[in-house]
Amino acid sequence: MPTLVMKFGGTSVATLDRIRRAAKRVGVEVAKGYDVIVIVSAMSGKTNELVGWVGETSPFYDAREYDAVVSSGENVTAGLMALVLQEMDIPARSWQGWQVPLITNSAHSQARIEEIPTENINTKFAEGMKVAVVAGFQGISPEGRITTLGRGGSDTTAVAFAAAFDAERCDIYTDVDGVYTTDPRVSPKARKLEKIAFEEMLELASLGAKVLQTRSVELAMRYKVKLRVLSSFEDNDETAGTLVCAEEDIMESNVVSGIAFSRDESKMTLISVKDKPGIAAAIFGPLSEAGVNVDMIIQNIAEEGLTDMTFSCPTDQVKRAEKALNAAKEAGVLEFDELVADTEVAKVSAVGIGMRSQSGVAAKMFKTLSDEGINIKVIATSEIKISVLIDRKYMELAVQALHDAFELEKA
Ligand code: ADP
Ligand code: ASP
Ligand code: MG
Repeated sequence: MPTLVMKFGGTSVATLDRIRRAAKRVGVEVAKGYDVIVIVSAMSGKTNELVGWVGETSPFYDAREYDAVVSSGENVTAGLMALVLQEMDIPARSWQGWQVPLITNSAHSQARIEEIPTENINTKFAEGMKVAVVAGFQGISPEGRITTLGRGGSDTTAVAFAAAFDAERCDIYTDVDGVYTTDPRVSPKARKLEKIAFEEMLELASLGAKVLQTRSVELAMRYKVKLRVLSSFEDNDETAGTLVCAEEDIMESNVVSGIAFSRDESKMTLISVKDKPGIAAAIFGPLSEAGVNVDMIIQNIAEEGLTDMTFSCPTDQVKRAEKALNAAKEAGVLEFDELVADTEVAKVSAVGIGMRSQSGVAAKMFKTLSDEGINIKVIATSEIKISVLIDRKYMELAVQALHDAFELEKA
């Protein structure tokens, strides 16, 4: 039997009624003759609640117990989905990550999938089971502890299963009917894309478009998984939603194909650091050891042997960054006058593979922002993206202005 992977996100399993609706969709595919692997998220809001409870115990919680707690939301929806399918006379059972087993490394709360043996589930398919409902987002470490794959990780579970079982397709059912030129919640002019290249989706996801977890796109690209994003609230046919595919499969594309944003960024500046060899290592070494994900970096021109160093990181890591840098100062490995944090910034990025061959995109982006009176604090570029850090209060305005400037509402 051909295999299909269907993933239902939090809003698609938010109530028993929605689980029933999702199960009906699964039933349609089973009727077509597929063996189906259903990956479920926790009910929407559940994971946030669990994360909140863990945080209330202590800011320095044990990450293994964090995983034990936050993975539990998916156990509930997996069991409920199996029950609802059984009610429809579809042979189904649920699988928690450890039962598969979905084996990860030991990086708790951000674990990476290492292996998904297919024997257990395939044996059940051979015995007549039609649907394996798998709890997304969770796995088991070599030490036998429960792990989670980072927020949004059920997307990655789904793609990894599609690769392991050589599925015909991996359908990601969510609360929007595809990937848009930008988050439709921020720009009403956002346009749904019929197709998007893996590289572009990878950039959009890593720059903040949470419609797919970044790692899921990486895996789909590596294992050539046919990945589709579609709505669980509308009727779909074979061509519904957005197909994430190889660049060669897209006939024409705009220079810029999408605008992404990330709201919770912070900018930190070390004032008057000594401009000498090894200084960057003395700053970013301790930050990396403290688990701070540094994103953009700029070093100012030195005057009289002193310079300012600026970097950005997620806002919830600012305290950790301050602690690490102050400790390095006290230990005498780093000298600086002051550490200034600006926690009210956001990152806005334009992404498109067309940028490789067309110049002027950066100029247009900067002009558009300046026409709106928006000051750019930091700039970063790569082959197919340009990102800027701006005041958070202008984020929506910037997204909309750039969407207009690059005419993204037009195909
Ligand atoms: P799920 O719970 O199904 O995993 P998520 O909330 O993780 O859903 O992702 C879907 C959301 O992603 C949408 O509701 C939308 O607000 C947001 N989003 C951000 N950028 C985009 C984009 N470019 N296209 C579509 N949706 C986007
Ligand atoms: N429930 C997890 C989260 O909210 C995983 C997911 O939904 O993809 O992050
Ligand atoms: Mg998600």
